[in-house]
Amino acid sequence: MTLEDVEAAAARLQGLAVRTPLLLQPGLLQGPQDVYVKAENLQRTGAFKFRGAFNTLAQMKDSDPGRVITSSSGNHGQAVAAAGQILGIPVTVVMPTNAIQAKVDAVKRYGGRVVFAGTSSLKREAEARRIGDGEGGTVIGSFDDARIIAGQGTAGLEILEHLPETDLILVPVGGGGLISGIAVAAKALRPSVEVIGVEPEGAADARDSLRSGSRVTWDRIDTIADGLRTSSVGRLNFEIIRRLVDDILVVSEDEIQAAMRYLAFSAKLTIEPSGAVAFAAVLAGRLQKIYRTTVVLLSGGNVDPTAYAQIIGTQVTGRS
Ligand SMILES: *Cc1c(COP(=O)(O)O)cnc(C)c1O
Repeated sequence: MTLEDVEAAAARLQGLAVRTPLLLQPGLLQGPQDVYVKAENLQRTGAFKFRGAFNTLAQMKDSDPGRVITSSSGNHGQAVAAAGQILGIPVTVVMPTNAIQAKVDAVKRYGGRVVFAGTSSLKREAEARRIGDGEGGTVIGSFDDARIIAGQGTAGLEILEHLPETDLILVPVGGGGLISGIAVAAKALRPSVEVIGVEPEGAADARDSLRSGSRVTWDRIDTIADGLRTSSVGRLNFEIIRRLVDDILVVSEDEIQAAMRYLAFSAKLTIEPSGAVAFAAVLAGRLQKIYRTTVVLLSGGNVDPTAYAQIIGTQVTGRS
């Protein structure tokens, strides 16, 4: 996995993926520290996942994959369905029984077929393989795949193209597709840039993996960030994370919700819980050093309307 793979992905995505804006958030940190957000909630399908999904399906198209089957809590499924629609490839998405309705509806709107299976990522992956074996078709994952990683890395390419002086990039971590792609691209273009991951404290398996030096699996995952409920990071992802990621920070559920409120009212951006996790680390004062120029990945904006209204409408007394 090299910068060239990410550049090839960027060429495939040209004119199809949105080059999302970097928006300065004034007054967040004291002194000469600028914080920008990269608004991937404005990406096609509402999350960065379109980048990896399209890059993967575009390469599969030549070898006639038949139906593409994938498992997803929602955003990857939407992205694969949308990519399939563009490329003329039929798609089946295995989703958790507790998936957000808006994400299920979106997969169907992009022409995808939805199958429900359990609430754990392991259960969904097993069901995807079962369908692939039974009906035929090609099963793809959502993060442990070089094509997915290269696609997600195009977000990192854009950050360094727009803002070459970036000192720190903060990225939410689920299976590790986004952070590993960004780390490959960003460190190749600017070796001094730091790439730091952020996880909910109820799903901090990547933090534990980085600390222990080997891939750790968490059996019990508990967080409102539905896009980050993976039990472990992928194999390929962990190889890259161990080599290129500088640190992984952890935030609480209250801090994620406070970040969603700040982003709604101060940044004017609708961000889902998973998408607000990296920003929560800045807002909660978790950075250990002074960085002149920080870019925070806001990874998605596909919210459940009822849950979102409740979080955003919560009156906070005192400081959160
Ligand atoms: C999938 C997802 C993530 C996590 O990405 P990984 O590549 O699995 O680490 C973060 N935020 C949102 C909104 C997502 O959909």
